[in-house]
Parts: sequence; structure tokens; C-alpha cells
Amino acid sequence: MKTFALAGNPNCGKTTLFNALTGATAHVGNWPGVTVDRREGVYKGGEKHINIVDLPGIYSLSPYTPEEVISRNFILDSHPDGIINIVDATNLERNLYLTTQLLEMDVPVIVALNMMDEVEKVGDKIDAAALEKALGVPVVEICALKGKGIKQLMDKAAAMPAERKGNTVLKGVLDKQLETACAYYEAEEVPSPLFHAVKLLESDELELSRKGAKQALESAANGKDMEAEIADERYKYISAKLSTAKVKANNEVLTKSDKIDKLLTHRVWAIPVFIVILFAIFHVTFSEDFLYIGAWSRIGGAEGLPALDDLGLSEGLATFVGIFYDGAVFSPGVILFNVFDTIFGLIMDAVGGAISVEWLSGLVADGILGGIFAVLGFLPQILLLFLWFSLLEDTGYMARIAFVLDRIFRRFGLSGRAFMPMIMGFGCSVPAAINTRTLADDKERTATIRVIPFFSCGAKLPILVAIAGGIVTSFGVGNADVITYCMYLLGICAAIVSVLLMRNTTLKGETPPFIMELPAYHLPRFKNLMLHLWDKTKHFVKKAFTIIFASTVIVWLFSHLNWQWHFVPDESMNESIIASIGKLVQPVFTPLGFGSQLGEYGWVFAVAAITGLIAKENVIATFGTLGACLVSMGAANLGGFDAAELLEDEEGITAACAMIQATGITIPGLIAFIAFNMTTIPCFAACATAKAELPQGKFKWTLLFWVAASYIIGAAVYTIGGWWWPVAIWVAVAAVITTFIVLRNLGKFDIMSIFKRRKKDGKNQ
Ligand code: GDP
Ligand code: MG
Repeated sequence: MKTFALAGNPNCGKTTLFNALTGATAHVGNWPGVTVDRREGVYKGGEKHINIVDLPGIYSLSPYTPEEVISRNFILDSHPDGIINIVDATNLERNLYLTTQLLEMDVPVIVALNMMDEVEKVGDKIDAAALEKALGVPVVEICALKGKGIKQLMDKAAAMPAERKGNTVLKGVLDKQLETACAYYEAEEVPSPLFHAVKLLESDELELSRKGAKQALESAANGKDMEAEIADERYKYISAKLSTAKVKANNEVLTKSDKIDKLLTHRVWAIPVFIVILFAIFHVTFSEDFLYIGAWSRIGGAEGLPALDDLGLSEGLATFVGIFYDGAVFSPGVILFNVFDTIFGLIMDAVGGAISVEWLSGLVADGILGGIFAVLGFLPQILLLFLWFSLLEDTGYMARIAFVLDRIFRRFGLSGRAFMPMIMGFGCSVPAAINTRTLADDKERTATIRVIPFFSCGAKLPILVAIAGGIVTSFGVGNADVITYCMYLLGICAAIVSVLLMRNTTLKGETPPFIMELPAYHLPRFKNLMLHLWDKTKHFVKKAFTIIFASTVIVWLFSHLNWQWHFVPDESMNESIIASIGKLVQPVFTPLGFGSQLGEYGWVFAVAAITGLIAKENVIATFGTLGACLVSMGAANLGGFDAAELLEDEEGITAACAMIQATGITIPGLIAFIAFNMTTIPCFAACATAKAELPQGKFKWTLLFWVAASYIIGAAVYTIGGWWWPVAIWVAVAAVITTFIVLRNLGKFDIMSIFKRRKKDGKNQ
């Protein structure tokens, strides 16, 4: 059976064509060694069956991204019988850039001009015959979305001769250099010598690692790096010989895409519009006051709607209404959360009641199920968040935002592409870290992965809610919403400062230029969206049943066993293994305001912080368990509240109050606790992903970075909140660092030179 590979730019319609060709035969795997999807299937519409492989989307065949390396190696090593190069006909010039590189390989190529429906809609015409002549390979017009032209494409592809010699558009410009370089590869009997020769002239690292390649480059081009020149020549050829095949409609009307872009990429309005969109997304997903009824009545000083408890409903009805309403109407995200929460609650009660042995019922209901549900409970909201982001991505809006933000990000040493993973970090760090694959530069990627946890993820939100609620209830100050928003802001600031510092010191490097075409706006496709969502769901469910499962069992056991391995009930948790470990590490957190100064019961904060290392959901779960114990032991007295009632408060505010009362922790200490949890080592799953995604050897430094950053930020928050005078010191430190960086960027001052000078002086003495 013949094998054809689909190659093309991202978003050119590869997957759409792949699905149209292979239908139900498709299966998805991974490319070896990396977690890039590998799709394979069989086309059965022609005389003979043909095997189809969907290569990752790429803009070029340089070895800068895993996708590029995969595509390049697949074509060179697996010798497919042909390449179906999909070209987005609405973006001919950029897409043909890849085509000119594919043509240099010794492999049959057929060009599929996709999205012809869009081209025709605006009245443009493409002379496929002229293009075919200029390229020297067959060109077929198709519309993958509607399945048009696919049969012709495959018939022509199947009829292609089995062999093709590579040819290049660089002829007549770099003849001499190419000839010498080609001779080297031909002597080595390497297949596709022309392709390799061009790459060698580009000083491609994969080529240069070959024995004798450096000398070959030396003799071909005096060792000169011709990458920029070659790219230039390709574009010149494309605009002179190829894009002339496209005849633009002469009516100068703006397409719908252009019109939308006038607003969405507007110099001034782009960012405000984006902020509004972002706010709307978070509001729909997380708001407990969807229609602003509560907010309006607060502003107007009016009574507002009655709380759920005041409605006088029967218990069953109250549970049902409580899903949608409590003094204000919930947003769709919160409603979904409540639905799951109610169901989980029922399951837990039923299971807990069915087991009569106390410790076993505790372990199964509170430990195992509680832990798993804590993660699954967030699934609806996180999926909803992903749905919005996938929508934005599918329609082509994300590409534009990356483009708009590029200008700003560049000042911090990142390209606009880093934006997407960061914003995803608000949902979950795991997919966010995976998304950094769109960043071409390793250093930029490392810096981005390191700050992703600072964008407070869905699992950290409950920590914010519980403690902010605890502060407002216990101290009667402030507004829980404002505290929560400020903490999000603190995380973002921490990320900006960290990136600035890293990109100017240990991860110094050029920010790669931002090349990305702006795809025309598409209506998103339902199937695509569902595939996206399914990917995320898989991940979460897996996380819940592996890491969280194991960690909750361990935490539960250690908090209910003493060193003699005897069961200790909730009331005497102070004697458990976990308590003694907590007491041991407690002093470490003293500079952050939740250490030794908290006295006998202060270890609860230390324990919560530690269990958070496994999964951030654990922090609040730990609060619940420990808070209940504090009440049982009589360390906290919440005016009539008993331990059982406290455990039922899902938001953990009551538990936070109990812990505040028992330990006497101050507001700055509590804020420092949130700040620490937000910026410290993220959960197990995020760490594992970071390790997989980071370049070799960077993971241990990343761990160190997280520990140091959270400690410094926590201590800063505590001192700034505690006394006014240390504020001056911190401000001074920040000012000095900023000045250094600004001066450095202006090229007047080299920070590292201070250290270097010191070292030298030291030696001389
Ligand atoms: P890939 O990144 O190359 O795999 O591209 P996809 O197959 O995911 O397609 C990107 C977008 O282009 C999707 O929104 C598709 O619905 C859309 N698309 C694909 N083919 C066509 C086409 O022939 N016409 C139009 N109008 N849209 C298309
Ligand atoms: Mg695809």
C-alpha cells in the first residue's frame, strides 16, 4: 500500500482534509519521544487503498521546533510515496514558502490548493495551470471542508511517478555554492542531496552535526551563514513567479475578515476589546452573580433578592434551587460546578453511610472519593474555560491577539506567542506548559514554563476564595472579591518581574521574530471543538484517578496514624504523623508570617502548604480536615458551629476562620500564605509536564526558582503588610533592580560585569 503524507502550515486545513480522506479508519498516536499527535488512516476512495499520515503543521523545515524536526525526518527517513502539500489559497505567499522547501527533496509532491471556496467568495481567481508550470508538480484546487476536489486530488496523486528529483527556486542565484555543497552530499551518497545542501548553506544545526559538514560549508560558502539570504531569495521567487498566478478581484472592497480586523487589531482598541472579551469569559465561567443583581442592589443600597435560606423551601427543593441561585443568579460555569458538586455529595454520603467501620468509611468517603471529586469538581468550569479559548483559537482570534501583544511582550523579552500558554495557565498549568511548544526558542520557552504557575490556576482559586472569605469574616475588613482579584494581579506582576530578570540574566537571548500569518476568520467547527475538549477531559480524569488518588490516600493515612501506627480519630490529629512533620517544618515559614509565631497549632498552615505540593486542591481539603479537628479539640470556638457543620462548608471559609482563630495569624500572614501557594512549586502533574517540556537539565533549576520565588514573594508580602518601614527597603530593592535592567537594555551597563569584576579581583588578591 502506498503512503502519502499531508504537509502544510498550521491551520491550512490538514486535519480537515485528513478526516475527509480517512473517515473512520483514522487512529491517533504519538510521534516517538515527543507528545505531538500522530494521525494515520487509510483512504479507500480510489482504485487502490492509500495510507495517509497527517504531519504536524509547520512553516518551514528548519530544526527549530519539534514539529519541524518530526515532519522533516518523517519525509527523509520513512520515504513516503508522495507528499500532499496543502496550501491555504487565501494566503498563497506564506504557504508557498514551505512548498519551495518541500520541492527540494527527492520525493513526489502534489500541491492541494485548499480553501478555494474562500478565494472564490471574494472573487479572486487562481491560475492553477500557471502555478503547476512554475512549480513543476501537479496542482489541484480543493475545498477540504466541503469535500470538493478531493477525488481528483487523490487520483492525480496516485498517478504520480514513483520517483522525483528535487529542484530548487534558488537556481541562478546560488548555483556555485549549491553545486559544491551538493557534491559533498552526493559523495556521501545521502538521499535528497539538494535539500541537505540548501540546509547546509543555512548553517542548519542538524546538517552541521554531520561529519565533514563544516569543511563542506567552508568550501561552499566560506563558512558564511546564508539563512537570511536564502529566505529572501525564496520570497523574491514566490512574489515574482508564483503569486502572480493569483488574480485579485479588482473591486477594492474589504472582506468580512478585514472589516472585523479593523476593530480587533486596531492600534488603540485591540487591547481594551480583548480585556472585555477576557473578562466576559471569566465572568460566564466563575461568577456567582451572573446578572449583577447582588452588585446592583449593593450599589443602590436596596434590599436585593433574598438569600436561599430565607426562601423557606423544603430541603429537597432548596438543594435543587441552590444549584442556580443564592441571593443572585449563578453563571453557567458555577451552575455546572454545583450540579457536579451535588451529585458527588450524594455519592459520598451514600458510600460513607454504607460502610460501618469508622476508619474505612473515613478513608473511602473523605479520603479517596473526597480527593477525586475535588479534582473532578473543577472539571466543568475548566472545560468551559477551555471551550471559550478553543473557540477563540478556532476562529482565528488568538492568532491576532498574539500579534497585537507581541509589541508589548517584546519589551519583557518574550514574543507574542508566549501569551497563549500564559492565559491558559489560569485554567491549568499542564496544558499551558504543553502549549509552549509554539515557542521556537528554548530559552524563551524555559522562561515561559517557569512563570506559568504564577498565573493562578483553577485549583488555586479555592485557596483564594477560602482565605479571602476567612479574612473578611474573621477580621471584618475588606471585600473578598477585591482580595481575590489583587492576588491574581500579584501573580501576574510576579511573572513579569521574573521574566524580565531571567531574560536579562540566566536566560538571555534574542527573542525570535514573530512570523505568523493571520488566518481569515473561520466559523469554528463543532467537531474540532469537541476534540479539543475531549483531549483536556482525558487529561483531568487521568490526573484525578492517579496522582490525586494516591496522594489523598497518603495524606489521609498520615493524618490518622501516629508513629506507633495506631489509628487516631479526627479529634486527636495533633498526635498524628502529619502533625509532627508539620511542626518540624513550621519554623521555615516564620519569615513568611505563618511559621513559629503561630504557636501550638500553627503547623496546620505548614501541612496545608506541603499537601498542596501534590495537588493544590489538597490545600483546602487539608483546611477542612484540620479546621474540623481544631474545633473538636476546642482550639477554636466558632460560636455554636460544630465540626460536622464545618466539614459541610465546601468553600472552606469556616475552616479558614477556625484556623485563624486557633493560630492568631495576622492578615499579612494570610496574604503571604496565599502568595506562597500561588508561586511555589506547582502540583505533581504540572511538575511532571514541566520536566517533560523543559530542555534537558533545566528542571532542577526550575524547581529551585519556584522555591526561591515563592519564599521571596511570601516574605515580601508579609513584611510589606506588617510594618511600614520594611516597605521602603523592598521598594528600594525593586527600584535598583529595575534601574539595572533599564540601563542594561539601553546597552550602557552590564549587570553581570559586577560579578565578573568581583571574581577577578578576588583572584588577584
Ligand atoms: P490544520 O491546522 O492544518 O490541521 O487545519 P484544520 O483542519 O484544523 O483547519 C483549520 C480551519 O480551517 C478549520 O476551522 C477548518 O474548518 C477550516 N477549513 C479547512 N478547510 C477549509 C476549506 O476548504 N474551506 C474553508 N472555508 N475552511 C476550511
Ligand atoms: Mg491539525
